Amino acid sequence: MRVEFLGTAGFHPNSQRHTSGVLLPDAAPDAAFLLDAGTGIWRLVGRDLPSQLHIFLTHAHLDHVAGLTYLLDVCYGRDLQITLYGDHFTLDAAQSSLFESPLFPLPLPHPTREIVPGVAFEVAGVGVNTFELTHPNGCLAYRFDWGKQSLAYVTDTLGDDRYFDFIRGVDVLIHERNFCDEFGKLALASGHCTSADLVRAARFSGAQTVVATHFNPLTATDPLLEDDVYGQIPGVVAARDEMCLDF
Ligand SMILES: [Zn+2]
Ligand SMILES: [Zn+2]
Repeated sequence: MRVEFLGTAGFHPNSQRHTSGVLLPDAAPDAAFLLDAGTGIWRLVGRDLPSQLHIFLTHAHLDHVAGLTYLLDVCYGRDLQITLYGDHFTLDAAQSSLFESPLFPLPLPHPTREIVPGVAFEVAGVGVNTFELTHPNGCLAYRFDWGKQSLAYVTDTLGDDRYFDFIRGVDVLIHERNFCDEFGKLALASGHCTSADLVRAARFSGAQTVVATHFNPLTATDPLLEDDVYGQIPGVVAARDEMCLDF
């Protein structure tokens, strides 16, 4: 299974990072999965993709949905079947606000499938479950199960422990770390994680592979050098745009 990071910044892009997007190009036969749809989606324009693209949205904040409007270019000249998944509020925001005048001239051209948080379902033979995180206007964590392998995607959440059981025993944990510990008050106010929050979640999950993403775009250096995250989570990886991992 391959994981490709299309965008690894939270809030807004900078010269090295686009906003949220994680591609699983071989998630299932003839199907790729895309987790979130920030500006990183532009990396899909013109590249080879299977015939189906399933896009799982965590929530409607712009750093997770702005790239949906780029799908016109991604689809140009080929027959790509795209389906969008999200909770009621996220899909409604995409259809009624983002793909609506005066923000955009065309309606959303792809089918949607509404998720009820906590109700498991299957997409292309892959088990999918969700958990409602603590974040302004909500955010879904996703867990994908392929039988012997599993991956959890936890972005945009307060550093509480409500979701810890949801990520326990997962093989790969992709988890946000928007702020260093020094900005704990800002993390609390905006519903995001600090380094300490990431460390607690990683340890509890028991994941063999932990990848941190959704970094504060104002951080110029490797964000995990802050607070000695590398020393606290053995083997943790700081996601970079266009980074690939196989598991
Ligand atoms: Zn975000
Ligand atoms: Zn958010």
